[in-house]
Amino acid sequence: MLGRALLNGLFPPTCQLCLQVVERDIALCRYCERSLTHNHHPCACCALPLRDPHSGEGLCIACQEASFDFDRVVAPFLYDTALAQMIGRWKYAGDHRLTPLLGDLWLSRACPGPLPDLLVPVPLHWRRQLLRGFNQAELLARHLVTRHPRLQARQLRPGLLTRQRAARVQAGLGASGRGENASGAFTLNGSCDNLHVALVDDVCTTGATADAASRLLRAGGARAVDVWCLARTPGPIPGIG
Ligand SMILES: [Zn+2]
Ligand SMILES: [Zn+2]
Repeated sequence: MLGRALLNGLFPPTCQLCLQVVERDIALCRYCERSLTHNHHPCACCALPLRDPHSGEGLCIACQEASFDFDRVVAPFLYDTALAQMIGRWKYAGDHRLTPLLGDLWLSRACPGPLPDLLVPVPLHWRRQLLRGFNQAELLARHLVTRHPRLQARQLRPGLLTRQRAARVQAGLGASGRGENASGAFTLNGSCDNLHVALVDDVCTTGATADAASRLLRAGGARAVDVWCLARTPGPIPGIG
């Protein structure tokens, strides 16, 4: 505690967006925190922000017509410019100071409902992980089990899923392209019989990756699959997930 107080005195924590000194436990000033876009009215299944939260029984048009292999996506924020900036630095520039900030933001805003038996980070292909040096979804999941009073490290199973082949970069692919890209991308390495699983990822873009991973977890016996991510992109979700 003394060490941390001394360190904070010498190097006061700064806001990770505007760089002004902050006197809070979280490395984001109040102004920048308020500037993040909260996902106030998410679809009850895929977390797409609803235009009219009072129609369609809380489901977006796509989820009224198609069913997914996950039960629900928990995404407390929308993928806006500020979050894209932080997630980009975290993921592509390896700025690990953002792990506790993003994890604490998730914990402060997410309403996950009944807690899962297992947390499974969405894996990267081994080649991509080797190049990047880490899997941001695993960093986030580790932070959540460390900080949540009712989650424990033994609930983390990073090896349950592996990425079978390197997914093509999703950016630039259309909705159907993303679905094709994700299908068959994972291998299940064990059972999750009758367990409630939370798949952890950074951003849910179309739901295709989460749907493909959830299909395998269901095949392995999972009784429920939630998807926990920081942010949802506000674009349309394709019929296939
Ligand atoms: Zn700020
Ligand atoms: Zn939906």
